[in-house]
Amino acid sequence: MLRTLFVRLSENQTLRGFAERSALGHRVSGRFVAGTEIADAVRATQSVNKAGMSVSIDNLGENVTNPDEARHSAQLYQQILDAIVASQLNANVSLKLTHMGLDVDEQLARDLVSGLVARAAAMQPRGFVRVDMEGSPYTQRTLDFVHELHRAPGNQGSVGAVMQAYLKRSESDVEKLLAEGIRIRLCKGAYKEPASIAFEKKEEVDANYVKLMKILLKSGVYHGLATHDANMIRQAQAFATSEKIARDSFEFQMLYGIRRDLQQSLVKDGWRMRVYIPFGTEWYPYFMRRLGERPANALFVARNMLRS
Ligand code: FAD
Repeated sequence: MLRTLFVRLSENQTLRGFAERSALGHRVSGRFVAGTEIADAVRATQSVNKAGMSVSIDNLGENVTNPDEARHSAQLYQQILDAIVASQLNANVSLKLTHMGLDVDEQLARDLVSGLVARAAAMQPRGFVRVDMEGSPYTQRTLDFVHELHRAPGNQGSVGAVMQAYLKRSESDVEKLLAEGIRIRLCKGAYKEPASIAFEKKEEVDANYVKLMKILLKSGVYHGLATHDANMIRQAQAFATSEKIARDSFEFQMLYGIRRDLQQSLVKDGWRMRVYIPFGTEWYPYFMRRLGERPANALFVARNMLRS
């Protein structure tokens, strides 16, 4: 119920406008968002790198409404890739296709994302663009995009997809991605989806996560297991150990500011960990989805607001 409420709140434009402009909003979002500028993301990345973890940098934003906004978003990503090279960061980037104009002009989005993947592929060392997965109206289009980008000459290994374990279709999508050697980030899924296409019970989502995790770890392709769920992590560790899968042949991924204790203990035990660092002025929908995932997060924010 709480999750549904926060997903609905994440879509409320009035609240969004108010929150993103207010000083209070910036303060409370700081726990999960690195700041508003590229320099903030670079600083956060350097500190996470120092702690032995790699990073995926995300410029927050989704559903742009005109071509200029899409071009502006892509330009910011070009600057992030430049910053990764200039500051020698151990980082890649994550982006959303609706932030690149998918709803406005599909060809424009294709051109912009192709430019970013080509830039990443030309980097030394080779860079990588993760295409985040959004709500189910975008699933097929996003997968078509990633397949097409990955097939373009020179792009192999420089672009990857995200699979959501709550979607019933994911197993078949995973097979198609693996058939082309495409890197996958496996997560549970953050949107509100109808029961006709998504598992509703946590046990069912978890069971599908574990099933897909095993397929990914056996595939020989380098994947990311994105979860803060200690139970999922334990099962992945046990499977990797029993199947003699090398610890450097995949990575765990977690969000900036969440379960930092677990992030550090995994690194200490020799597992690979990547932290997803979001930054930017358009933090509201991302922030609301994070609050909905755990009641304690909403309490944390409420306590901070009372302290103001
Ligand atoms: P849950 O079953 O939600 O939670 C298990 C436990 O983890 C909780 O009991 C709690 O201890 C801890 N936990 C979980 N969430 C939080 C939180 N917000 N704050 C504090 N503790 C928490 N979703 C998409 O739909 N598309 C994407 O492209 C996408 N990319 C992601 C990238 C990364 C690196 C990560 C980590 C997540 C991504 N997600 C994405 C979100 C994901 O789908 C889930 O909504 C989110 O990770 C919560 O699920 P969980 O696996 O952590 O487990």
